[in-house]
Parts: sequence; structure tokens; C-alpha cells
Amino acid sequence: MRICVYCASSQMCDAAYHAAARRLGELLAEDGHVIVYGGGAVGLMGSLADGALTRGGKVIGIIPRFMREVEWQHAGIEELEIVEDMRERKHRLLTGSDAVVALPGGCGTLEELFEAITLKRLGLYFNPIVLLNTHDFYAPLQTFMQKVIDERFMNPGHAAMWSLVDTPEQVLPEIQRTPKWREDARDYAVVR
Ligand code: AMP
Repeated sequence: MRICVYCASSQMCDAAYHAAARRLGELLAEDGHVIVYGGGAVGLMGSLADGALTRGGKVIGIIPRFMREVEWQHAGIEELEIVEDMRERKHRLLTGSDAVVALPGGCGTLEELFEAITLKRLGLYFNPIVLLNTHDFYAPLQTFMQKVIDERFMNPGHAAMWSLVDTPEQVLPEIQRTPKWREDARDYAVVR
């Protein structure tokens, strides 16, 4: 599988987040999957890529030209794709991916995650979206999304577009167990 991973650029988050990112990189690589990510060397991005590279994994980084110019890219990955801007990067990350995994992160990660969920709702993406809930990071997001549903901004069934797992070891089984999103996505996108 080609697995798109969104994750933080922060270096300052707890070591547990770095350990989980690194472990996920190892596990995906050991199982022969290709990781597509933002191409950064820092934060959870760096830990993820480092983990995969230690296990001989294939890692593709997609980075905008302006970040390349300030050398934010990871030096060790074999394939680095330079794109013009953040929009193109997001598009290239998601297009052709067999699954999305979101690790904890800041506004960049959340934006990427919400784009994937939005496209899935509109029937423009059908594959699993798994959130790695290290330290219960995504629990408040789940609570908020339940409010979104309770207030009738989304259908209750839309909550099945993504799922949470607690450990890196649960990510691949969760991807494998998650069915394709509904064929009538576009019709179901309308709140009734
Ligand atoms: P955040 O979750 O806000 O840390 O943002 C993570 C996302 O922001 C990444 O996927 C990138 O799109 C972008 N980003 C921010 N800082 C960097 C960096 N130093 N190197 C590469 N990408 C970065």
C-alpha cells in the first residue's frame, strides 16, 4: 500500500509522540508499505521517516519549493518531490494513497486531516483514515465532531469516515479492517 501520513513538525512535543511516530515508520516499512509524507526532517515527520529508513522502507517526501529553499527536507529519503505550493503538496500527498494516517500535530496536520475527511464525505476519496491517538490526543476532536453531528452539521454515519487507534501496532490492522467508504457518498453528504 501507499500510505499517506500527516504529522507534526514540532520538535517540542513529548517524547512519547516521537516514539510512536518512529514505531509507525518501522512497522509500515517492515510490512513493505510505501510512506508518503510532507518530506520534513523535523518533528514527528523526522521520527516517522527515520523509523522507516532504519527498516529499509521506501519513503516519498513531497515538499513545497519554499521549504526546500530553506532546507527543511529530510536528507535521507530516496524520493523527494518538489511542488510549487502547499495546495499542490496536499493534493499530491492524498492522490493515489490507499490510506491516510494522521498522527498528532498542529494546524498543518489538522488541515490535512480535515481535507481528507471533507473529500471523503464528498465521494472524492474512499480509503481508510486512521488517527493515531497517542496520549489521547484526538479525544477532544472526537468530542467536538460528536457535537458537529449532534447539531446536525453532519450525518451520524459520517463519524465512520475516520477511526482512532491507541498504538502504532493497531494502525495497519485498522486500515485492513476498514471498508471502502459508501458508494452513495455524494448523496449521503447532504445532511438529512
Ligand atoms: P503542523 O502539524 O502544524 O506541525 O504541520 C505539519 C505540516 O506543516 C507538514 O505536513 C507540512 O505541511 C508543514 N510543515 C511545517 N513545518 C515544516 C517543516 N519544518 N518541514 C516540513 N514541513 C513542515
